[in-house]
Amino acid sequence: MPFLKKMKTDIKALTYEQLSNILSEYSLPAFRSKQIYKWLHESGCTSFDEMTNIAKDLRHMLFEKFYISSCGIEDKYISNIDGTVKYLFRLTDGEFIESVVMKYKYGYTICVSSQVGCKMGCTFCASTLAGFNRNLTAGEIESQIHSAQKDLGIRISHVVMMGIGEPLDNFENVMAFLDNVNNENGLNIGMRNITISTCGIVDKIYELMDKKLQLTLTISLHAPNNEIRSRTMPVNKKYPMETLLEACRRYGEITGRRVSFEYTLIKGINDSESDALELADKLKGSLCHINLIPVNDVRERGNVRSSKDTVLKFCNVLKRNGINATIRRTLGADINASCGQLRHLKKRGDVNENSC
Ligand code: SAH
Repeated sequence: MPFLKKMKTDIKALTYEQLSNILSEYSLPAFRSKQIYKWLHESGCTSFDEMTNIAKDLRHMLFEKFYISSCGIEDKYISNIDGTVKYLFRLTDGEFIESVVMKYKYGYTICVSSQVGCKMGCTFCASTLAGFNRNLTAGEIESQIHSAQKDLGIRISHVVMMGIGEPLDNFENVMAFLDNVNNENGLNIGMRNITISTCGIVDKIYELMDKKLQLTLTISLHAPNNEIRSRTMPVNKKYPMETLLEACRRYGEITGRRVSFEYTLIKGINDSESDALELADKLKGSLCHINLIPVNDVRERGNVRSSKDTVLKFCNVLKRNGINATIRRTLGADINASCGQLRHLKKRGDVNENSC
């Protein structure tokens, strides 16, 4: 990153309120803040020079104080199976992140990253393999949407925070991102079209519920008990299942929104009939939904996917015991764009298994 950029603030990371407050110090009228905000968040501009209705000296002043974060397209992979697109984005400081765009009947969904790498250490996931480097700014999270929209010439209607990183471990920036992405002068994506997935940072789930946002919260559960969960998801040692499930129950009460769960099925680890029964027992009586995901291949991990038959059986045991369960369709399988396959690359070319 050029030295000066380090000293500057990412203007795209500011919420509308923060931006207006800063600009009001320069005695600028309120409509100027709105114009600048629209350039950044509605148009997704990447340079102050693009702000053609803003006077040159003001653009220069902005340039002196701020920079605009962006996601440059370093690589792009398109699935031959279902048209899913995976991007390798280069950030302003040369770091890389990945994002995925999927087409559904109702529109386009983007799966965005929230951190460069991940510290959570789940034993089945690729995102944590190369460790953690830094949080993304709110602007960098949003830039993934702008870059993909521009490149594909589409409008993205849904956002899932299921890319690289743990969104609740980057809480403040993720909240600023939500504020901006939901703003009517920005991308204007409704909260109900946004999903946050967490491995279960319980303190932050409580903080999130107090905000009473109408987004969908999904929990990466992946185990029927503490013994298996602590072995595969280190976060469980700090926040055991009972405290996590209690937080989910409270989340539903406070926000009126049903929490959903993700459960990755790994052969011989968490996919037996007794695992399904234990899981059903734990979730009994709670209004929830479970997405079952046969584990996706992550070369270094060596986990084996449960057979189709086992997945179906697991699903049926849950259903018979009153739990609403579905099996998730895998998208982007030929370009390593599925759940848990997005990676923190230290430098371009670290892993070339995406070439197809
Ligand atoms: N850190 C957050 C966001 C990541 S979302 C979280 O844990 O929820 C990515 C989802 O894919 C999570 O549910 C994660 O547990 C799951 N996942 C990770 N590795 C996987 C794999 N190999 N196969 C299938 N799902 C996987």
